[in-house]
Amino acid sequence: AASIRLESVRKQYDDGTVAVRELTLDVPAGELVVLIGPSGCGKSTILRMINRLIEPTAGRIVVDGEDVTRADPVALRRRVGYVIQHVGLFPHQTIRANVATVPKLLGWPRDRIRSRVDELLDLVGLDPARHGGRYPHELSGGQRQRVGVARALAADPVVLLMDEPFSAVDPIVRGRLQEEFLRLQASVRKTIVFVTHDVDEAVRLGDRIAVLSEAGKLEQYDVPARVLAA
Ligand code: ADP
Ligand code: ADP
Repeated sequence: AASIRLESVRKQYDDGTVAVRELTLDVPAGELVVLIGPSGCGKSTILRMINRLIEPTAGRIVVDGEDVTRADPVALRRRVGYVIQHVGLFPHQTIRANVATVPKLLGWPRDRIRSRVDELLDLVGLDPARHGGRYPHELSGGQRQRVGVARALAADPVVLLMDEPFSAVDPIVRGRLQEEFLRLQASVRKTIVFVTHDVDEAVRLGDRIAVLSEAGKLEQYDVPARVLAA
């Protein structure tokens, strides 16, 4: 696992919107840090900067000791897994093919891809034999989210970024996904930045919680018990 450090990071979009005014945040290696805060406070912007889908206007982001603004974006994305709310699976590809996306890009041999994909499906609670050959629309919402997690883990990233990964499913499925995800994290111990607007989810999953207000202002950053007490 790797640490993530944001140093005086600022993001101003081209239209002048200041999404993050100035944020400094350390995510320790192997911890799950939850970003919580009102809609529009800059949470997704922060994830997209860590993943280098967008560039910070100022400041520095260091992942695993490397300044991401200097990193090769393709190499970086292989090391950073990204899971979003509406997973974005390829509809005309099977579940196996979806999970294999990054390993295929990396040119892994077929046998290695096949065994890795089955291992991952198993890890997220899907049966490779039953679900692997299906198409995304043949799975439930909860199962699609699991495929999204499997795909993000495929090339064994050092960091996982998750943007409201469980919000599109109903509360009962969400509870089950959270539980399974905690078990998964206990075994893989990734460094994770997890965005939610659900306080219960934050408390349940977070090793630490970063409470943000408008323009990415860090109001609190602590373990869940102390955030709740404040
Ligand atoms: P959150 O994830 O906390 O809801 P976002 O990071 O999506 O917040 O957005 C932060 C702010 O930046 C909002 O005011 C949003 O409207 C604005 N914003 C997001 N993306 C863009 C964009 N591409 N161009 C201009 N403004 C944007
Ligand atoms: P989850 O627990 O992931 O939300 P559900 O409880 O909704 O899944 O689904 C229950 C079972 O129904 C699953 O084992 C799944 O394989 C099966 N299933 C769901 N949707 C479909 C579908 N469109 N076609 C075939 N099987 C399905």
